[in-house]
Amino acid sequence: MALTMQNTGLLLGQNHIDGAWVDAADGATFGVADPATDDIFTTVPDSGAEDARRAVDAAHRAFATWRKVPAKQRAAIIKRWNDLILANVDDLGKLISREQGKPLAEGKGEVVYAASYVEWFAEEATRTDGEIIPSPAAGRMMFALREPVGVIAAVTPWNFPAAMIARKIAPALAAGCTVVCKPAEDTPLTSLALVKLAEQAGVPKGVLNIVTASRAHTPEVVDVWLDDARVRKITFTGSTPVGKHLARRSADTLKKLSLELGGNAPFIVFDDADLDAAVEGLMISKFRNGGQTCVCPNRVYVQDGVHDAFVEKLVARVAALKVGPATDPASQIGPMINARAVDKIARHVRNAIDLGAKVVVGGERVNGPQYRSENYFAPTVLINATPSMECACEETFGPVVPVTRFSTEADVIAEANATPFGLAAYFYSNDVRRIWRLADALESGIIGVNEGALAAESAPFGGVKDSGYGREGSRHGIGEYMHIKYVCQGALG
Ligand code: NAD
Repeated sequence: MALTMQNTGLLLGQNHIDGAWVDAADGATFGVADPATDDIFTTVPDSGAEDARRAVDAAHRAFATWRKVPAKQRAAIIKRWNDLILANVDDLGKLISREQGKPLAEGKGEVVYAASYVEWFAEEATRTDGEIIPSPAAGRMMFALREPVGVIAAVTPWNFPAAMIARKIAPALAAGCTVVCKPAEDTPLTSLALVKLAEQAGVPKGVLNIVTASRAHTPEVVDVWLDDARVRKITFTGSTPVGKHLARRSADTLKKLSLELGGNAPFIVFDDADLDAAVEGLMISKFRNGGQTCVCPNRVYVQDGVHDAFVEKLVARVAALKVGPATDPASQIGPMINARAVDKIARHVRNAIDLGAKVVVGGERVNGPQYRSENYFAPTVLINATPSMECACEETFGPVVPVTRFSTEADVIAEANATPFGLAAYFYSNDVRRIWRLADALESGIIGVNEGALAAESAPFGGVKDSGYGREGSRHGIGEYMHIKYVCQGALG
């Protein structure tokens, strides 16, 4: 099965600045590789400071008019964008699978998921009500109005090339903000295609600008935005060190920030859990996108009484997973994004074995004539994992399940919380009192109780501690792109 697109107009290789498709100012480009083969199949601009500045100039000019467009009209444009995304679901799914590696069913699923945020925020555009505040003094009217913050800069990761763009740009446009965006260097093509569809939907020139850059040139582009006081907000999804760097670096211009950073999600199975449901939930939450999601369980804790039965059921399911490229419709686990990612996974597994873990299934890279790159890693289950192992301390971001046995609820809560991160946490139990104790005690922005698939456009997504701050999706998502202006009218008699 080839990943050939019908609508070739969606395969773009230029920046979009002030309504025009343009090369980098100095003409530089970099290659986009297919992780299934490592073949470079197209190029995009390797932008620099000049391109970044032009994008802000355009977004700043456009803000003056876009913020005044009635919310209902903005909503109609964003709704058309949603419709165009859904009309191109096959091609966008293929593009995601080609540049990111995930199986095609997952690529198309991501497009539908991305569109759900676009539709949601089209609707939210018309609901940014303010407040009339009862005045403590006579002769006054007091109002709290909500306004768009201004130009926002979005920096996105490679693991969900469509969804991360949708979650950030749709609420920004809905709020009346204008946008400059730098997508991940591994997956620039899906974001360019989405911007093309936004243009076709009627987003006016200058409102949505995108520049691509290699990893080496990325700081040059983003630093321009960090230093420019006209950029009023940074919205970022990616690693915690880069998120902290952006927070530090934007302090001089005191920008609003939304940071959706790394996780280290615990997945806890109690003796009283429905084991089949727990195994199913783990398969869904762990192996989506080959384990490359920020809410993937990274540490699995299983209580003494069910440990062996759970591992046996889990191993049977994991051993049956089919690893392969997106061109094979049977593939369930694609290649990892790049060699750097596979090296990290292999290092975590080696470290766990050295510290006493045992591999029950997998544990190695997958090679063979049908695998045309070195980016495949076998779905893996480790037992006897301990807190000092690298796989328990940092996100593995791959198809590896380290299992740790535990005895008491108090112990497992302490261990689950013993991490600087707090994005997602999962547990399986049928004891209603335990459920609410755990939901309260776990230090995490998102909690799955007897459920492995958590994300939805109507739910607030985001973390605590080193997993960042700010929420995407839900009725709270648009507020990240607005500030509150208090207006007090006096002398009313
Ligand atoms: P990253 O943080 O390096 O990259 C994310 C984005 O930040 C990309 O667009 C990248 O170009 C940009 N970036 C990188 N360095 C920058 C800098 N100095 N200034 C400004 N922008 C910069 O993440 P990654 O390399 O793609 O992945 C590394 C790890 O991050 C993963 O192993 C995983 O743990 C975590 N991650 C988390 C998520 C998430 O959804 N929370 C997504 C991707 C990666």
